[in-house]
Amino acid sequence: MARAERSLPAVSLTIPALDRRSDLRTVDLLPRLLADPATAVLRLHGDAARVTRDGADARVGLGAPRPDDASRLAFYLGEAEGRQHVGVVDDPAGDDDAGLDTLRQVGAHLDPLGASLFATTLALANWHRTHEFCPRCGSPTVPVHAGWVRRCTVDGSEHYPRTDVAVIMSVVDDADRLLLANGRGFRSGGMSVLAGFVEPGETLAAAVAREVGEEVGVEVEDVVYLGDQPWPFPSSLMVGFTARARGTDLRLQDDEIAAARWFSREELLAAIADGSVHIPGSVSIARRLVEHWYGGPIQAPETVSMR
Ligand SMILES: [Zn+2]
Repeated sequence: MARAERSLPAVSLTIPALDRRSDLRTVDLLPRLLADPATAVLRLHGDAARVTRDGADARVGLGAPRPDDASRLAFYLGEAEGRQHVGVVDDPAGDDDAGLDTLRQVGAHLDPLGASLFATTLALANWHRTHEFCPRCGSPTVPVHAGWVRRCTVDGSEHYPRTDVAVIMSVVDDADRLLLANGRGFRSGGMSVLAGFVEPGETLAAAVAREVGEEVGVEVEDVVYLGDQPWPFPSSLMVGFTARARGTDLRLQDDEIAAARWFSREELLAAIADGSVHIPGSVSIARRLVEHWYGGPIQAPETVSMR
């Protein structure tokens, strides 16, 4: 059998297309950019943004700053295609959501710049929304450094955007079958690779082994890194691995895993075709891990429907 490729093909949201220019994040940057009609603004409504479609391709709609943007939460995103880009958190769309899409819906179809802008804006907005108060003293914090830091208004302590690291892994047995599981809270028939958060003091490889052991009772070896993906739902970085199982007996962690089983390639295709199994959407690194094991793209209905 051919040796598997040691990286994942075309993971959405991972092509760097933005020069973040952290050197420009000074106190006067946002007022200046929001007063300049040449600035490109990505406007977030709730967790959605304006997106235009052209066949299978999608582009994030960028507009000029508006007069009331100075009073909104905004952050500097970076430089690209000769323009400065700013994210602005606008009001939720309410019922008038025509033309708006979430990153989950369109992430697999966006151009690299649009994907970078949308993922960064969503991740920063999610962080700002939940860090309005100082973790040391409970006083209000305010955005500084062009939206990349929050500072306590009382003790001056500075707080930085957080990213929660998770491991996600294809587990393969000696017969080259793939382990897929239906987690509690998944839709009926929804099957994916295992994943879990890295704990403090733990390495990535140790987290892979611990999560697989906890969730399905399988020991793994040969843990190999394949790629990673920002996953701002709300604030994760998914780090993808493949690992070999030492055995095939499954002992499920009842409160997290509803079902799990080993699939050959033929079994998985048949289960997708008859509708008994739904695999993760093409925006996710989970889908790429399944396809990496499979050896090529898999045609399957999208689990998050397109507009
Ligand atoms: Zn404080």
